[in-house]
Amino acid sequence: MIRIAIDGPSGAGKSTIAKKAAEKLHVDYIDTGAMYRAVGLKMRRENIQPEDEKALKDMLGRTEINFIDGKIYLDGRDVEKEIRTPEISAAASECAQVGAVREKLVAVQRKIGHEKSVIMDGRDIGTNVFKDAQFKFYLTAEPEERARRRYKELQERGEHVSYEEILKDVKDRDYRDTHRKLNPLKKADDAMEIDSTNMNIEEVVDEICTSILERCNHAQ
Ligand code: C5P
Repeated sequence: MIRIAIDGPSGAGKSTIAKKAAEKLHVDYIDTGAMYRAVGLKMRRENIQPEDEKALKDMLGRTEINFIDGKIYLDGRDVEKEIRTPEISAAASECAQVGAVREKLVAVQRKIGHEKSVIMDGRDIGTNVFKDAQFKFYLTAEPEERARRRYKELQERGEHVSYEEILKDVKDRDYRDTHRKLNPLKKADDAMEIDSTNMNIEEVVDEICTSILERCNHAQ
């Protein structure tokens, strides 16, 4: 089984890049952020506060999360659209601080990665979920550039959020992701770092795929 880990802060382009690299390398793409978003969505729907670990545990006990054809399903329903809002971004990063949530989702992620070859993107894939992944990448970009990309994406979708608001959201999430007690965002010692501030998507995908294929060829 081949496991490729791509970690990095919000908005570094991980999911777009991981999806394209997965197609080129013929492996499945697993978006672990979507799992935290799905839990965040249910937490908001049920009006549960992230501090209320007992209520969260109870909710997790009756929650099913699956990937079908690359789409995220929460309790049997495709929630791909509903999870991509600023409100659910915040809910995802809040519930990602909670031990019970991480335990459940990491177990689902490990199960998937034991069943098939995957590219998995997230915050703790190379440092925790698959410490033994054969290939690890840490993708970054300046916060201002990440906010600009996100702003453009939301504008194209007809959503009106100010650039300042997005930049604040990017910085807040960076802070929460790097400062949380459990599995904080951090580059694995053996991960290759790619700063995409001045690179386009294709260039990053190429760098990742070339590095993987070169190492595979060397090993033969
Ligand atoms: O990647 P994405 O922005 O969709 O992730 C949403 C949130 O889920 C992140 O801000 C982060 O707090 C959390 N997350 C995590 N561990 C992962 C993936 C995402 O804590 N492996």
